[in-house]
Amino acid sequence: MTDARLPDSPIASRVLPSPNFGERRGRGRPDSVVLHYTGLPTAEAALALLRDPDSQVSAHYFVWEDGAVAQLVAEDKRAWHAGESFWAGERDVNSASIGVEIVNYGHDGALPPFPEPQIAAAIALCRDLAERRGIRPERFLAHSDVAPARKRDPGERFPWDALASAGVGLWVEPAPIDGGPLFGPGQEGPPIRALQAMLALYGYGVALSGVYDARTKAVVAAFQRHFRPARVDGEADASTVATLKALVGALRGG
Ligand SMILES: [Zn+2]
Repeated sequence: MTDARLPDSPIASRVLPSPNFGERRGRGRPDSVVLHYTGLPTAEAALALLRDPDSQVSAHYFVWEDGAVAQLVAEDKRAWHAGESFWAGERDVNSASIGVEIVNYGHDGALPPFPEPQIAAAIALCRDLAERRGIRPERFLAHSDVAPARKRDPGERFPWDALASAGVGLWVEPAPIDGGPLFGPGQEGPPIRALQAMLALYGYGVALSGVYDARTKAVVAAFQRHFRPARVDGEADASTVATLKALVGALRGG
């Protein structure tokens, strides 16, 4: 840490340094926040991994189930949480973001709920980051948003709607699910290209090929996990498309 024992955020009550960081590249200032679940059975195991020099992984902040928050890496340093990722033209997501690990066993643990005090702490931390760092609502992202083919965290049980109610993140009410898929794997043509264009406009890493390929399916699933979590299947049903249109509209509307 630049200053050994002072957290950058007043929401963090202590500093538990991780050696796993480097210097931020490029603009050098984070404009995004990436939220993760730890995906391990216990907080202790996750914290040990994030502080183990051999693991080569870390995050800036760590949020326990009881709402306690620790800082592991200083905000002006590049923590190693996103891995190979992409968002809105940025391939070095670690340099452009602040990483927050939220203790939760995740998909391997059958998606346990996030306790209320933990979500309250995550909200407080995100609000602090938004205010202090000027991070825009649409730049509060899931790890699955920036690495859709590799990652599913923080998962479809993560309460993005509760964060939005507290002023964190860009959110629109998901359109109700009604009927089967409009578009799905194997289809081609201008409607598929239009779907890809909306996903890319929001920031997802998908080519405007006009072909509903495996990457498109993974990106649609990532979108659903974040914005239409009632059904995560990578099929572009009417509800998914309507929710995406509304979200892109909200983005343009500022
Ligand atoms: Zn993650």
